[in-house]
Amino acid sequence: MLQPNLFTWSEIDTVLLDMDGTLLDLHFDSFFWLQHLPLRFAQLHGRDLDDVKVYLARELAKNRGSIEWYCVEYWSDKLQLDIAALRAEVSHNVAYRPFAEEFLQLLKQSRQRVVLVTNDHRSGLELKLEITGLAQYLDAIVVSHDFSVAKEEQQFWRAMQEVEPFDPRRSLFVDDTVAVLESARLYGIQHLAIITEPDSNVQRNIETDFNKIECFSDINKTLQPNR
Ligand SMILES: [Mg+2]
Repeated sequence: MLQPNLFTWSEIDTVLLDMDGTLLDLHFDSFFWLQHLPLRFAQLHGRDLDDVKVYLARELAKNRGSIEWYCVEYWSDKLQLDIAALRAEVSHNVAYRPFAEEFLQLLKQSRQRVVLVTNDHRSGLELKLEITGLAQYLDAIVVSHDFSVAKEEQQFWRAMQEVEPFDPRRSLFVDDTVAVLESARLYGIQHLAIITEPDSNVQRNIETDFNKIECFSDINKTLQPNR
Protein backbone atom coordinates (compact mmCIF):
# COMPACT_ATOMS: atom_id res chain seq x y z
CA MET A 1 0.00 0.00 0.00
CA LEU A 2 1.26 3.47 -0.78
CA GLN A 3 1.65 5.51 2.36
CA PRO A 4 -0.50 8.67 2.25
CA ASN A 5 1.55 11.74 1.37
CA LEU A 6 4.55 9.56 0.57
CA PHE A 7 5.86 12.28 -1.69
CA THR A 8 5.50 15.96 -0.97
CA TRP A 9 6.27 17.18 -4.44
CA SER A 10 7.00 20.73 -3.31
CA GLU A 11 10.04 19.29 -1.45
CA ILE A 12 11.38 17.52 -4.55
CA ASP A 13 13.31 19.22 -7.36
CA THR A 14 14.90 16.18 -8.98
CA VAL A 15 13.45 12.75 -9.72
CA LEU A 16 16.06 10.04 -10.22
CA LEU A 17 14.68 6.88 -11.80
CA ASP A 18 16.14 3.43 -12.26
CA MET A 19 15.24 1.74 -15.55
CA ASP A 20 15.13 -2.08 -15.29
CA GLY A 21 12.55 -3.24 -12.77
CA THR A 22 11.42 0.33 -12.07
CA LEU A 23 10.23 1.95 -15.31
CA LEU A 24 10.58 -1.20 -17.40
CA ASP A 25 9.47 -4.74 -16.65
CA LEU A 26 12.39 -6.75 -15.26
CA HIS A 27 10.98 -9.75 -17.10
CA PHE A 28 13.05 -8.84 -20.17
CA ASP A 29 16.31 -9.10 -18.21
CA SER A 30 15.40 -12.06 -16.01
CA PHE A 31 14.05 -14.05 -18.95
CA PHE A 32 17.20 -13.32 -20.91
CA TRP A 33 19.73 -14.24 -18.21
CA LEU A 34 17.86 -17.21 -16.74
CA GLN A 35 16.28 -18.80 -19.82
CA HIS A 36 17.32 -17.44 -23.19
CA LEU A 37 21.06 -17.15 -22.51
CA PRO A 38 21.43 -20.71 -21.09
CA LEU A 39 19.53 -22.07 -24.09
CA ARG A 40 21.58 -20.19 -26.69
CA PHE A 41 24.85 -20.90 -24.82
CA ALA A 42 24.06 -24.64 -24.88
CA GLN A 43 23.13 -24.49 -28.58
CA LEU A 44 26.08 -22.40 -29.74
CA HIS A 45 28.74 -24.19 -27.67
CA GLY A 46 27.19 -27.67 -28.01
CA ARG A 47 26.75 -28.12 -24.27
CA ASP A 48 24.14 -29.81 -22.08
CA LEU A 49 21.44 -27.30 -21.06
CA ASP A 50 21.21 -28.41 -17.42
CA ASP A 51 25.01 -28.19 -17.00
CA VAL A 52 24.99 -24.72 -18.58
CA LYS A 53 22.25 -23.52 -16.22
CA VAL A 54 24.24 -24.66 -13.17
CA TYR A 55 27.42 -23.05 -14.52
CA LEU A 56 25.73 -19.73 -15.36
CA ALA A 57 23.86 -19.54 -12.06
CA ARG A 58 27.17 -19.98 -10.22
CA GLU A 59 28.98 -17.36 -12.33
CA LEU A 60 26.13 -14.84 -12.10
CA ALA A 61 26.03 -15.21 -8.30
CA LYS A 62 29.75 -14.42 -8.03
CA ASN A 63 29.88 -10.82 -9.18
CA ARG A 64 26.39 -9.61 -8.33
CA GLY A 65 26.26 -5.86 -7.70
CA SER A 66 29.65 -5.14 -9.30
CA ILE A 67 30.07 -3.20 -12.51
CA GLU A 68 31.30 -6.37 -14.24
CA TRP A 69 28.02 -8.07 -13.45
CA TYR A 70 26.23 -5.41 -15.49
CA CYS A 71 28.84 -5.37 -18.27
CA VAL A 72 27.99 -6.89 -21.64
CA GLU A 73 31.65 -6.98 -22.72
CA TYR A 74 32.60 -8.88 -19.56
CA TRP A 75 30.00 -11.60 -20.21
CA SER A 76 30.60 -11.68 -23.97
CA ASP A 77 34.28 -12.28 -23.31
CA LYS A 78 33.78 -14.75 -20.48
CA LEU A 79 31.13 -16.82 -22.29
CA GLN A 80 32.48 -16.29 -25.82
CA LEU A 81 29.09 -15.10 -27.02
CA ASP A 82 27.71 -11.86 -28.49
CA ILE A 83 25.51 -10.93 -25.54
CA ALA A 84 24.14 -7.74 -27.13
CA ALA A 85 23.01 -9.66 -30.22
CA LEU A 86 21.46 -12.43 -28.11
CA ARG A 87 19.60 -9.86 -25.99
CA ALA A 88 18.18 -8.32 -29.16
CA GLU A 89 16.70 -11.75 -30.01
CA VAL A 90 14.24 -11.35 -27.14
CA SER A 91 13.61 -7.61 -27.51
CA HIS A 92 9.87 -8.28 -27.81
CA ASN A 93 9.95 -8.63 -24.00
CA VAL A 94 11.00 -5.00 -23.49
CA ALA A 95 7.99 -3.21 -21.97
CA TYR A 96 7.00 -0.50 -19.53
CA ARG A 97 5.78 -1.53 -16.09
CA PRO A 98 2.08 -0.74 -15.53
CA PHE A 99 1.38 3.02 -15.50
CA ALA A 100 5.10 3.85 -15.72
CA GLU A 101 4.68 5.70 -19.00
CA GLU A 102 1.77 7.70 -17.57
CA PHE A 103 4.00 8.55 -14.58
CA LEU A 104 6.67 9.84 -16.98
CA GLN A 105 4.10 11.84 -18.94
CA LEU A 106 2.91 13.54 -15.75
CA LEU A 107 6.48 14.19 -14.63
CA LYS A 108 7.24 15.80 -17.97
CA GLN A 109 4.50 18.33 -17.30
CA SER A 110 5.83 19.02 -13.80
CA ARG A 111 8.68 21.32 -12.80
CA GLN A 112 10.98 18.53 -11.53
CA ARG A 113 14.10 17.52 -13.41
CA VAL A 114 13.83 13.86 -14.43
CA VAL A 115 17.00 11.79 -14.71
CA LEU A 116 17.37 8.12 -15.63
CA VAL A 117 20.07 6.48 -13.51
CA THR A 118 20.96 3.02 -14.76
CA ASN A 119 23.46 0.22 -14.26
CA ASP A 120 22.53 -1.22 -17.63
CA HIS A 121 25.16 -1.42 -20.33
CA ARG A 122 24.83 1.12 -23.14
CA SER A 123 23.95 -1.61 -25.66
CA GLY A 124 20.97 -2.67 -23.52
CA LEU A 125 20.03 0.94 -22.83
CA GLU A 126 20.00 1.81 -26.53
CA LEU A 127 17.85 -1.21 -27.34
CA LYS A 128 15.34 -0.27 -24.63
CA LEU A 129 15.27 3.43 -25.59
CA GLU A 130 14.61 2.52 -29.20
CA ILE A 131 11.72 0.21 -28.34
CA THR A 132 10.06 2.32 -25.61
CA GLY A 133 10.77 5.91 -26.68
CA LEU A 134 11.68 6.52 -23.04
CA ALA A 135 14.20 9.28 -23.79
CA GLN A 136 11.44 11.76 -24.74
CA TYR A 137 10.42 11.97 -21.06
CA LEU A 138 13.92 12.47 -19.64
CA ASP A 139 16.05 15.54 -19.00
CA ALA A 140 19.22 13.44 -18.70
CA ILE A 141 20.51 9.86 -18.67
CA VAL A 142 23.30 8.76 -16.34
CA VAL A 143 24.98 5.41 -17.07
CA SER A 144 27.12 3.96 -14.29
CA HIS A 145 29.38 2.23 -16.84
CA ASP A 146 30.65 5.67 -17.82
CA PHE A 147 32.23 5.90 -14.33
CA SER A 148 33.19 2.19 -14.19
CA VAL A 149 31.36 1.85 -10.89
CA ALA A 150 27.85 0.59 -10.10
CA LYS A 151 25.10 2.47 -8.25
CA GLU A 152 25.74 0.20 -5.27
CA GLU A 153 28.99 2.15 -4.62
CA GLN A 154 29.33 5.60 -3.01
CA GLN A 155 31.83 6.54 -5.70
CA PHE A 156 29.04 6.33 -8.27
CA TRP A 157 27.00 9.10 -6.62
CA ARG A 158 30.04 11.33 -6.23
CA ALA A 159 30.93 10.84 -9.90
CA MET A 160 27.34 11.47 -10.99
CA GLN A 161 27.28 14.72 -9.01
CA GLU A 162 30.15 15.99 -11.20
CA VAL A 163 28.23 15.59 -14.46
CA GLU A 164 24.60 15.86 -13.33
CA PRO A 165 24.49 17.98 -10.17
CA PHE A 166 21.53 17.42 -7.84
CA ASP A 167 20.64 18.30 -4.25
CA PRO A 168 20.31 14.96 -2.39
CA ARG A 169 18.01 16.58 0.21
CA ARG A 170 15.58 17.65 -2.50
CA SER A 171 15.73 14.53 -4.66
CA LEU A 172 13.55 11.47 -5.01
CA PHE A 173 15.16 8.20 -6.12
CA VAL A 174 13.12 5.15 -7.15
CA ASP A 175 14.78 1.76 -7.68
CA ASP A 176 13.90 -1.93 -7.27
CA THR A 177 17.18 -3.06 -5.67
CA VAL A 178 17.69 -2.78 -1.90
CA ALA A 179 21.52 -2.53 -2.12
CA VAL A 180 21.22 0.38 -4.56
CA LEU A 181 18.72 2.21 -2.35
CA GLU A 182 20.95 1.68 0.69
CA SER A 183 23.83 3.24 -1.23
CA ALA A 184 21.61 6.19 -2.19
CA ARG A 185 20.50 6.61 1.44
CA LEU A 186 24.10 6.57 2.65
CA TYR A 187 24.91 9.27 0.10
CA GLY A 188 22.15 11.39 1.60
CA ILE A 189 19.28 11.17 -0.87
CA GLN A 190 16.29 12.18 1.21
CA HIS A 191 13.31 10.69 -0.63
CA LEU A 192 13.57 7.01 -1.50
CA ALA A 193 11.14 4.38 -2.71
CA ILE A 194 11.35 0.76 -3.76
CA ILE A 195 9.36 -0.98 -6.47
CA THR A 196 7.84 -4.04 -4.81
CA GLU A 197 7.09 -6.02 -7.98
CA PRO A 198 9.77 -5.29 -10.59
CA ASP A 199 9.10 -8.45 -12.62
CA SER A 200 5.59 -9.08 -13.99
CA ASN A 201 6.23 -12.83 -13.92
CA VAL A 202 7.57 -13.11 -10.38
CA GLN A 203 5.80 -12.51 -7.06
CA ARG A 204 8.29 -10.95 -4.63
CA ASN A 205 7.78 -10.63 -0.87
CA ILE A 206 10.18 -7.95 0.15
CA GLU A 207 11.16 -7.07 3.72
CA THR A 208 12.35 -3.49 3.75
CA ASP A 209 11.87 -0.20 5.56
CA PHE A 210 12.00 1.79 2.30
CA ASN A 211 8.79 3.39 1.10
CA LYS A 212 7.08 0.95 -1.22
CA ILE A 213 5.55 1.54 -4.61
CA GLU A 214 3.27 -1.29 -5.67
CA CYS A 215 1.93 0.51 -8.71
CA PHE A 216 2.66 3.86 -10.31
CA SER A 217 -1.08 4.49 -10.59
CA ASP A 218 -1.01 5.32 -6.84
CA ILE A 219 1.72 7.90 -7.40
CA ASN A 220 0.12 9.33 -10.53
CA LYS A 221 -2.92 10.40 -8.53
CA THR A 222 -0.68 12.63 -6.39
CA LEU A 223 1.22 14.14 -9.31
CA GLN A 224 -0.68 16.92 -10.98
CA PRO A 225 0.81 18.98 -13.82
CA ASN A 226 2.99 21.99 -12.90
CA ARG A 227 3.71 20.97 -9.33
MG1 LIG B 1 16.63 -2.03 -11.38
